[in-house]
Formats: sequence, structure tokens, C-alpha cells
Amino acid sequence: MTEFARRKTVTVWVGSVPVGSGHPIAVQSMTNTDTADAKATAEQVAALAQAGSEIVRVTVNNRQAAQAVPEIQRRLQDLGINVPLVGDFHFNGHILLKEFPRAAEVLAKYRINPGNVGVGKHHDKNFLTMINVAKEYDKPVRIGVNWGSLDQQLLTRLMDENAKLLEPKDAREVMIEAMLSSGLLSAELAEEHGLGHDKIIISAKVSNARDLWDVYRRLAKRCDYPLHLGLTEAGMGAKGMVSSTAGLSVLLSEGIGDTIRVSLTPEPGAPRSKEVEVAQEILQALDLRSFVPTVTSCPGCGRTTSTLFQEMARDIQAYLKSQMPLWRDRYPGVETLKVAVMGCVVNGPGESKHADIGISLPGTGEDPRAPVYRDGQFVKTLQGPGIVEDFNQMLDEYVSVRFGAEA
Ligand code: SF4
Repeated sequence: MTEFARRKTVTVWVGSVPVGSGHPIAVQSMTNTDTADAKATAEQVAALAQAGSEIVRVTVNNRQAAQAVPEIQRRLQDLGINVPLVGDFHFNGHILLKEFPRAAEVLAKYRINPGNVGVGKHHDKNFLTMINVAKEYDKPVRIGVNWGSLDQQLLTRLMDENAKLLEPKDAREVMIEAMLSSGLLSAELAEEHGLGHDKIIISAKVSNARDLWDVYRRLAKRCDYPLHLGLTEAGMGAKGMVSSTAGLSVLLSEGIGDTIRVSLTPEPGAPRSKEVEVAQEILQALDLRSFVPTVTSCPGCGRTTSTLFQEMARDIQAYLKSQMPLWRDRYPGVETLKVAVMGCVVNGPGESKHADIGISLPGTGEDPRAPVYRDGQFVKTLQGPGIVEDFNQMLDEYVSVRFGAEA
């Protein structure tokens, strides 16, 4: 369904998930439990996977966390969850991956931050220790650069070189170049030491959309590794969602990005899976992938002053969401369904005709009748207190006929 020409890359397999080379853009997420708590972490990984996360990353920050990784995997297997688990390593990954070979074996990919692998002569030595483990267990790595933890030695060197130029670049330019160099030089070093070209994914995350576009556009031109896309520290609530959408959508529309994560700060008590939902919504809004039926609903206005329309729109959306676990298996392709729930006669019939199935609810002062359209044709008018239930029944019938095995 994509209309954007995807950038050509090699394919990197992360467990059972192919990343890059035109494969569907994979949705990732990351847990925020203490990884050492295998039960809580396995439960959150399961929840993220059930929400649609195709790859889940856990921090492996100490011995207790590394020790827990096989137990997390075992618990996931017991739950019937086969999502690839990625280990996120900083500072001590070279120690943990060597000390805990079962963790190294169980993880589907290692995320290595070249800004956090040690300084001086230890930098390359520690980095290559992890690369050797990746080779030994035939695992891919993500070289994950982050401007909050940029390789300071590299940045200082590039700043010094820049200062000697006749026309020095501004600091932002040097920072972007340092991010690119950190990722690309690390990948080069990994390949020189025998890691396969098809075992490397790169990311270079910043927390501002414009910087993100600049970094990734240049990265995309300079390599054919798959790119993991994300705006780091996007923030909370609407700000985090809008910033991530702005940052990711522009690049995705240019064919850049093979796997994405939306890094939302969760509201207290909110489910971690919100970041998965937003990532899916971004891909679906761009027509790059379909995950759930699309509901087109108008914002409402003075023509529909009661809450009836809002309640109906909400209830129909909730019904679709509740049916998806069942429908996904039973009705292949149902995620491409387009439903319209409109507030009055102004745009209601027109928008409903554009959808696969749509309902135009009565606005203020209109007859309490709701015409339903199917495949662009008027089919019947619903009325009375059971409009939502009646419409849901029509939805069931439509889905069964259009997406059922006999269809
Ligand atoms: S469809 Fe009707 S209720 Fe909805 S925004 Fe348009 S005019 Fe207002």
C-alpha cells in the first residue's frame, strides 16, 4: 500500500522480524520495569507485544538484569509470546555479555551506544568485545547514537578540526557530523572485525524534529544499513505525540526509516503500550501500514450540540477495537477497513460514501434518523435508541462478507 519509495537497504533479521529492504516498517518499544524483576518485565513485554510491538527492548544495566534475561524469555514462551527481545547496553555491556552467555544467546539483538562504551583505549576494546559476542551468537547489533550521550572524544576532535578551518562550520553542523561519524565509524569498525554488513542497524536520535530530519537525511545518503527512527525524549502527552509525529512522518514520507519507536514519557498510571499505539497510528496515517480499521469522524460543531454524536463515535470506535483480536485472525485484511462516523447531514453522507461503511448521525434539529452507506451506496436508515447496536451489527455483517473466507 506504500506510495513512498523506500530507501534501499540490506535486510537485517532481528529474531524472526526482517528489518529494512522494503519489509514492513517494524514497530518497536521499550520496557520501563526493572529488568531484574523478571515477572514484571515479562508481563510488560507481553503487554507491549500484544499491543502490536514487533520488537521489544529491555535495559540490561547490571548483573541482576543480565541474569534475569533468560527467565524473562522463558516466561514469555510460557505465555506464547515470541517477540524478539533486544538488550540495551551502556557502559558495561562488554562485561555483561561475556559474563552472562545465556543472556547473550537469548537476546535477538544488542543495542550498543558508541558514546557509552568507554573512553580512550577502552573505547574500541569494549566495543569490539561486544561485536565479538554478536559474531559468536550470530546476532545483529544496533549502533544507537544519541546526542545526549555523544562520543565526547570524537566530538572534541571534530570541534578542534573545525576550529582550524578557514571558514568553520557552526556548532550544530559539527554536532550533526559527529553523530553521523560516531554511527558510521563504529559500523565500519564492526565490519572490519568480521561482523556482517547485514548485521548492523543504525540510529542517531535527537530530541528536535528539524535536527532529526537533518541527521537522518544525511545518514540515509551515506549508508545502506537499515535505520531505526525515533525522536529521543519526545516528552509527555500531546507534546510527545505531536513532536514524534512531526519528526518521524517527514522522514518516513521520504522513504527513510525501517523500524520506529515513539519515546513517550508515560503519564503516571498510563499503560506503556501507548507508545506502540502512537507508532502504529503514525504508520497508518501515512498509509504505510494498517493495524486497525480507520474511523473517520468529524470534529462536530454547532450543528451537533448534544453529546450523542460524540458518544456514538466513541462507542463505535471502542467496538471496532474490541473486535480486532477476534477479527484479525478470522478476517485477513480487516485492518484496512474504513469506517465513517459523521455528525450531521453537511458532510455526513459524502464522507460516509467515501468509506467502506459509514453512518451519518442526526445533527441538532434534524430528524432522528441515521442513513448508512455501504461501498458508496445508501443501504438503510437507522433510528431509535439502538442506532449504535444496529450499526455494529451491520459492521459485523459487512466484515464477515467482505473479509470472510468465503468472500
Ligand atoms: S459533519 Fe456536520 S456536525 Fe460534523 S463538523 Fe461537519 S457540519 Fe459539523
